[in-house]
Amino acid sequence: MKTVTLIGSGFSSLSAACYMAKNGYKVTLFEKNETIGGRARQFTEEGFTFDMGPTFYWMPDLIERFFNDFGKTSADYYELIRLDPGYKIYFSEKEALSVSADLTEIYAMFDSLEPGSSRFLRSFLQDAEFNYRVAVDKVLYKPANSFSELIMPDTVKRLSQFFTTISARVKQHIKHPYLRQLLEFPVIFLGAKPSNTPLFYCLMNYADMVLGTWHIKGGMFRLADAMKQVAESLGVEIVTQSPVDKIVVEKDKATGVVVKDTFHATDLIISGADYHHTEYLLDESFRNYSETYWQKRVMAPSALLYYVGFDRKIDQVAHHTLFFDTDFTLHAENIYDRPGWPDKPLFYTSFPSITDPQLAPEGKETGIFLIPIAPGITDSEEIRSFYFNQLIDRMENITGQSLKKDVLFYKSYAGADFMRDYNAYKGNAYGLANTLLQTAFLKPSVHNKQVKNLFYTGQLTVPGPGVPPAIISGKIAAGEASKYFNK
Ligand SMILES: Cc1cc2nc3c(=O)[nH]c(=O)nc-3n(C[C@H](O)[C@H](O)[C@H](O)COP(=O)(O)OP(=O)(O)OC[C@H]3O[C@@H](n4cnc5c(N)ncnc54)[C@H](O)[C@@H]3O)c2cc1C
Repeated sequence: MKTVTLIGSGFSSLSAACYMAKNGYKVTLFEKNETIGGRARQFTEEGFTFDMGPTFYWMPDLIERFFNDFGKTSADYYELIRLDPGYKIYFSEKEALSVSADLTEIYAMFDSLEPGSSRFLRSFLQDAEFNYRVAVDKVLYKPANSFSELIMPDTVKRLSQFFTTISARVKQHIKHPYLRQLLEFPVIFLGAKPSNTPLFYCLMNYADMVLGTWHIKGGMFRLADAMKQVAESLGVEIVTQSPVDKIVVEKDKATGVVVKDTFHATDLIISGADYHHTEYLLDESFRNYSETYWQKRVMAPSALLYYVGFDRKIDQVAHHTLFFDTDFTLHAENIYDRPGWPDKPLFYTSFPSITDPQLAPEGKETGIFLIPIAPGITDSEEIRSFYFNQLIDRMENITGQSLKKDVLFYKSYAGADFMRDYNAYKGNAYGLANTLLQTAFLKPSVHNKQVKNLFYTGQLTVPGPGVPPAIISGKIAAGEASKYFNK
């Protein structure tokens, strides 16, 4: 039986491991950390449970496809709850919009703020649905080996959407600043500014307003755990606390990996560790890309996160609450154009124990705070504590309640932690930004060009950042790897 080695245990690696095992190979997966899940790890402290990374469960249909490929459904492993509202955005003290799970309520909200604007929203969402279908059925699952993969009547018809941006389209039709921000928000998940994100990605608005925001009872980590169960049921051996230190190559083939000074022979390797790090497991001559190439990439933001235990339930917030009480243009400049610490960043909060009381002790609240920041900027305990105080102050003012005295504890997590824990290039949180020049075949390749049996998966290759794309990326890499074996 041919053997396959997986590096990492994020969603992409777990996915690739499952598909390779299903295809009949003997799969061993090495993970450097104590627990699986990569950026989606979870920890519990004083009875509070924190998802360390992703919290928005979007595009449930794509995640379902994964389970269906193995004769399962997500319901075999966990319970999904649709959030209503999906999220709430504060724009100023006491001025907020909530995105209902009911589309008719969203249309009514648009018309109440800007009469007639729901007409635009309807056609925008129709377009977004079309793009979503094209992306899912014809683009996302392709390995992006060449430009020609993208050429088909549906994409040619939409070519102009790659040369105009989400911002441009929204600004043309919507005047109200809050509605504009609401429509621009979903593409922030893709890691680039809305003014730099091709209009084609308005498919994210369909995901947001139509497919909805979901929560897994027990937290996002349950998805990683479910995928682990699928993998183990197929015979995948998962070895944690085992960093791969080297990929050994002879001529044009990888012969194995070195883990804790021990050589493990293998017939094929798929790495879901950060792409840049995987390259450094190879001798320089076998790397796909030079350091200059990486320096020229537009990385998606890193993040400064706080995991907070509150001594009481929090008022005036939804499960997901965004604080857009500040100018994102200035903040975005500090992420993309002049990397540095923003004066007054927008921030995101999640209080999963509102929906899922088991995630906090009775009568208390689990809080996760996130500020998107430029990758690679220096940070310190002083900076982290400065922003924590600022965030709590702003949240107190905006939601009209005192909070500081109810903070039982908080832990911070930022760029240097991403580097230490995940070998993340420049401490990135979400991989590469989905700009036009970093889309599809312009992303780092799934194949190593010289080492024929080495493949890359994960958020830095196709299709890109996010939980569903990472899972799809695993399927793509497994497909290409299986083709190599079947040649
Ligand atoms: C703070 C944050 C919030 C996010 N929010 C959302 C969200 O709400 N919704 C959403 O859809 N997406 C979200 N994302 C994005 C999503 O989490 C990622 O795109 C996805 O989890 C990436 O999976 P991956 O498999 O590519 O990489 P990772 O999860 O990083 O997995 C890589 C694995 O490789 C391991 N590794 C590294 N080097 C080695 C080595 N040498 N040997 C062995 N193992 C190694 C790492 O430890 C890690 O486990 C968020 C990400 C972050 C960080």
